[in-house]
Amino acid sequence: MPIRSRIAPTPSGYLHIGNAYNFLLTEQLCHHLGGSLRLRIDDLDTARVRQAYLDDIFESLHFLGITWDKGPRNTSEHFAEYTQSLRGDAYNALLAQLVDTGRVFACTCSRAQITASSTDAQYPGTCRDLKLPLDTPNATWRFRTEPEDTVHWVDGFLGPLTLPLFHRNRDFVVRKRDGIAAYQLASLADDSAYGINLIVRGEDLLASTATQLFLARTLAQNSFLLADFYHHPLIKENGEKLSKSAGSTSLKAMHHAGCSGAAIRNDYAQWAASFLHTEQ
Ligand SMILES: [Zn+2]
Repeated sequence: MPIRSRIAPTPSGYLHIGNAYNFLLTEQLCHHLGGSLRLRIDDLDTARVRQAYLDDIFESLHFLGITWDKGPRNTSEHFAEYTQSLRGDAYNALLAQLVDTGRVFACTCSRAQITASSTDAQYPGTCRDLKLPLDTPNATWRFRTEPEDTVHWVDGFLGPLTLPLFHRNRDFVVRKRDGIAAYQLASLADDSAYGINLIVRGEDLLASTATQLFLARTLAQNSFLLADFYHHPLIKENGEKLSKSAGSTSLKAMHHAGCSGAAIRNDYAQWAASFLHTEQ
């Protein structure tokens, strides 16, 4: 089966050196395996999307010398053909399938209420048994998870993994308050639609991968179930995860400061290559 991978940035801030590492590692691994690469922009959270951040994605990829085979070449192509806003029907069809399982429930908890009543940083189950109508105004839709809901896969970098969803992403959100599909569902829907079978992510997304594999199993999205996953360590600065900002680690700032994209590419490609040599 031909290898198809993707880089999937979110235009909610300026891309940083950690994103560059993920993109370059994805590109190296994809090319190493003779695959094709797609640019797939996660822009569903329209409240956080800014034109400047979208432009930054294309500028940063050019700066790093990354080329891709499929997907938008620029922001106008993105909006004309690829924005996730055009894919609402596909997401809603999957949401309807989830509702049919009887495990979707409406939740009216605010983020503050959840934080205040949770003891383990997970959803405390406040609305699980309230049987609120799904059309309750301003309700999120959550998918009920049970203690036996575990997800297993063999990670390309980390080896065999088993994640208990109940403890890692309990009763996860599948539709947001605004009626739009949540990230986990949209991401799965798009990767499935594009036949993506090689996914390279940071280790901060392990719970997301588990959630998406669980959704894929529930929704019989079989191509996604067969995908290979590679989770890499995150680049940190002073022990902290990098955040999207205009700070000194943003690619934009490095570009403006006269850093060489080719030099960054070279450094990170070597790091990526060290991964490839340990991966069999
Ligand atoms: Zn709730």
